[in-house]
Amino acid sequence: MLFKNLVEYSERIGKTSSRHGKIAIILGFLKKLSQRESEIGVNFISGKISQGKLSLASKGLVLLVKIRGSMERPPDLLAIDRALDLAGKAKGRKKVEVLGPLFRRLSAPEKKFLAALISGEVHQGAGEGLVKMAIAGCFGLLGAEIDQAYLQKPDLGSLFAYLLQHGKAGIHRLGISVFHPVKPMLAQITESIDDLANEYRDLSIEYKYDGVRVQVHRKQDRIRIFSRNLKDITIHFPEIADMVRTIPLNEFILDGEAIGVDNKGKPVPFQVLAKRTMRKKNIKKMMAQIPVVPKFFDILYFDKEDLTSKAYVERVRILNEVIIDRTYLVDWEKPRKKGDVSQFFRRSIQAGNEGIMAKLLDAPYRAGKRGKYWFKLKNVYTIDCVILAAEWGHGRREGLLSNLHLGVLDETKTKYLMVGKTFKGLTDEILVWFTEHLPALKVHEDAWTVYVRPHVVVEIAFNEVQKSPKYDSKFALRFARVKRIRKDKSAREINTILDLVKLGRSDD
Ligand code: AMP
Repeated sequence: MLFKNLVEYSERIGKTSSRHGKIAIILGFLKKLSQRESEIGVNFISGKISQGKLSLASKGLVLLVKIRGSMERPPDLLAIDRALDLAGKAKGRKKVEVLGPLFRRLSAPEKKFLAALISGEVHQGAGEGLVKMAIAGCFGLLGAEIDQAYLQKPDLGSLFAYLLQHGKAGIHRLGISVFHPVKPMLAQITESIDDLANEYRDLSIEYKYDGVRVQVHRKQDRIRIFSRNLKDITIHFPEIADMVRTIPLNEFILDGEAIGVDNKGKPVPFQVLAKRTMRKKNIKKMMAQIPVVPKFFDILYFDKEDLTSKAYVERVRILNEVIIDRTYLVDWEKPRKKGDVSQFFRRSIQAGNEGIMAKLLDAPYRAGKRGKYWFKLKNVYTIDCVILAAEWGHGRREGLLSNLHLGVLDETKTKYLMVGKTFKGLTDEILVWFTEHLPALKVHEDAWTVYVRPHVVVEIAFNEVQKSPKYDSKFALRFARVKRIRKDKSAREINTILDLVKLGRSDD
C-alpha cells in the first residue's frame, strides 16, 4: 500500500465522529494490507512507528516538513519503515539527512502525517480499542476472544500479522513464545490479614518486594528483559542477564521482581532503584551504587511448553528446578496454622519490603489480569490530611457529618488537592466533634455536603496510593481510615502530594 493511501484513510477516520464509522474505515484499511506490510500498517494507523522513538529534535522535523520535493515515486509503507529504520540508527543531525530524500517524495499532508507519526502526535482517533475491534471484525472474533488474544500478544501489529498468517483458528494456538512478552499477572489489594487467612487455605504467601517487575526471556545465549509495561529494559540490568545466563538450560521465560540492595544486602526503596531504570548511560557506575538482585516467583514457559495454564504449585515446582540458588527465588511459605500469615507479614516488613503477596496454589497464570488469584497486602502508611468537606451520613449516622473529603498540599504548598474520601475509623465521639465544629468553617454547601475552609487536620492510615482521574490531585488513597484528629497541627503543616507520589508505584 502506498503511504498516501494510508494518509487518506487516516483523514477519513479523523473526519468521522461515530465509533462504528471509525471501526468500519479501519477495517477497510486492514483488508487492503498485505502480509508483509500488516504489522507496519497497523502501527501507522494506530499512530505508532515500529522503531518506538526516533529522538529527532522538533527543529529537525520542522525542516523536514518544509522540504520541497518532486513527489515522484510515492513511497509505500515498507519504504517508509525502511527509512525510519535507517534514521533510528543514525546519530543527531544525520537523522534529518537520512530522512530528507524520503520527505521529498511526499505531498504536504503526507509530510505532516509522517512528522506527527515520528513525534507520536497523530490524533485522528484510531486508539488501541478501535483498532482492536477492527481486527476482531476482520476475522469474525468476539470481543472476549480478541481481548484474550491481545493479553497473550500485546502488540496489535504482531497480533494482526499472526492472524493473517494463521487465520481465526490460530487464536487457540496463540501460546507464549520466547521474546514476545505477555502482560504480567496482577494482584488485587486486600485490607486485612484475617481476610487472607480465613478465606483461602491453599495459599503461598510471599514477600512483596518494592522493586521493578521483570519478565526475563532466554533462548540460548540471547536474553531480553521486559518491564511491567512490556518495554525492553535489558540494557538496565546487566547483572540479571548475567545471572540468568549461568542457568544451564536453554529456553524459558521467568517472571519476578528486581530489587535494589544496599551494601548489607537490605532492599532499598523503589525510588532509589528507579534511578537504575532512568539512565542509559553510566550503567556500570549505577551497578556499583545500586546493585540489583532478581527475585523470581514464576515461570511461564520452559522446554518448548507454555506453562500458563498449569497450577501455580506446578509452575513453582518447575521454577525450583530451573533456579537452584535460592538467593534468586522469592521468599515464601505455605501458612499452616493461625498466626502464620501475620508473622510472615511482620517478617517481610522488618526485612524492608512493602508487604506480602498471597497466591492461590491452584491458580493458572492469567496474563494481564487482576483477579481473585493473587492478593497483595501492603504495609500501613500514615499521613496528615486536611478536611476539605464532609457529607451528611445516613442510617445510623443520620444527622452527623460523616464521609470526609481529604486533601493534601500541592508541591508549592499553596493549594490543597483532594486525595480521597473516607467514613472509616470514625468513633461516635469524633463524629460528634466534626458535626459540631465543621459547620463553623463552612464555605458553601449543597444537599449532601458541607464544604469547609481547610483547617481541621486528621491523621489518615491507608494501604496504597493509586493513580486516579477522579480527583484534582490525580491520586487516590486506598483503604483510607481516620486514626485521630491532629489538633496540634495546622493545615500548613500537613503532607504534600509529593509524599504520596513517592508511595504510588509509577506503572500502575
Ligand atoms: P502493585 O504494583 O502494588 O499492584 O503490586 C503488584 C506488583 O508487586 C507486581 O507487579 C510486582 O512488580 C510486585 N511484586 C513484588 N513481590 C512480588 C511477588 N512475590 N509476587 C508478585 N509480584 C510481586
